Amino acid sequence: MNIHEYQAKELLAKFGVPVPAGYAAMSVDEAVDAAKKLPGPLWVVKAQIHAGGRGKGKFSELGPDAKGGVRLAKSVEEVRANAEEMLGKTLVTIQTGAQGKQVQRLYITDGVDIAKEFYLALLVDRETGRIAIVASTEGGMDIEKVAHDTPEKIETLTVDPATGLMPHHGRAVAAALGLSGDLAKQAGKLLPQLYNAFIGTDASQIEINPLAVTEDGKLLVLDAKVGFDNNAEFRHPDIQELRDLTEEDPMEIEASKYDLAYIKLDGNIGCMVNGAGLAMATMDIIKLNGAFPANFLDVGGGASKEKVTAAFKIILSDPAVKGILVNIFGGIMRCDIIAEGIVEAAREVDLKVPLVVRLEGTNVQQGKDILAMSGLPIIAANDLGDAARKIVAEVNQAVPA
Ligand code: ADP
Ligand code: MG
Repeated sequence: MNIHEYQAKELLAKFGVPVPAGYAAMSVDEAVDAAKKLPGPLWVVKAQIHAGGRGKGKFSELGPDAKGGVRLAKSVEEVRANAEEMLGKTLVTIQTGAQGKQVQRLYITDGVDIAKEFYLALLVDRETGRIAIVASTEGGMDIEKVAHDTPEKIETLTVDPATGLMPHHGRAVAAALGLSGDLAKQAGKLLPQLYNAFIGTDASQIEINPLAVTEDGKLLVLDAKVGFDNNAEFRHPDIQELRDLTEEDPMEIEASKYDLAYIKLDGNIGCMVNGAGLAMATMDIIKLNGAFPANFLDVGGGASKEKVTAAFKIILSDPAVKGILVNIFGGIMRCDIIAEGIVEAAREVDLKVPLVVRLEGTNVQQGKDILAMSGLPIIAANDLGDAARKIVAEVNQAVPA
């Protein structure tokens, strides 16, 4: 789960992390009120969307010369004008995809005189199984280019979970950022604050870009992106309240209600599979046969009939879906339960696209009988390869390439 920049900053501030003052605003009036509460003489009006690259982003409704999603303002009136121009518009950045994201919230914050911009991130490094600290002197809006062209300018260190964060990590980060004296001391203080925030909230990433050195010699977090481990969400009801559903895919929200692992993809073959590994293999074999999956969907090990029905409806609510492949290995999950769910859902939604089902495992014969006797035009498959070939052939027939 992700949150907005202003929420991330409020959260980090609770752990002592230095951030500029600021207020969120949902309307132009709120933006003006927020600006009045700040001292000036420089304000920043920042679009709040769950995507980075806002500074260099473009608003679809405004001309190519219009400013991006992070704007400096020198008066309250300028804050108002920018808020009027930005709210409700669609911001397209390198991270939003071409469709962009509608700006429904702004963050009005103190403008800072920046001497230098660094990059600093904490994330879960799956390769080492540790929290990694990533630091670069080349922070700011071109970090992707730095990672691509000059990766040696990005330093990574990891934290041994047995010891946790140690003072030497702070010194190493200060050295990596070329800091000495008081700034090195500030870095040594900042790192444990970020680490405590990471552990304390079960974060999966905390990305600070830029971490600024101000003209008056302070380290200050000017942009923060924080994501959380969904598996730990039950431990943090307060963080759950920060969820902004308008930023999430409606089908993924629906899926999360039923505890289904669903991710929307670009293809046209809907997949319903049990087990993440089998779901990946199913997507691979669809691709091997020259087509593309419309989604990843893992119904889990012990799904109920209701869950299968919900999964089926979610797949079908995607207009891109031109055929469905159900691939179930019944272990804990029994094939007859799956079959009942499929039949019920297919009836309820008035299935109009071809459906190929491959069942294997516990109660497979009962499952197949239920499907065969349903009177529905379900195409049975013997194994995974057979299933993929059949659904790709059906979809190609329906939508010639
Ligand atoms: P994004 O990464 O989505 O483009 P940022 O919050 O990093 O958005 O803002 C982009 C740039 O705007 C920063 O790299 C920084 O140069 C400038 N900026 C952001 N916040 C402030 C601020 N409070 N004061 C001055 N400049 C800022
Ligand atoms: Mg940034």
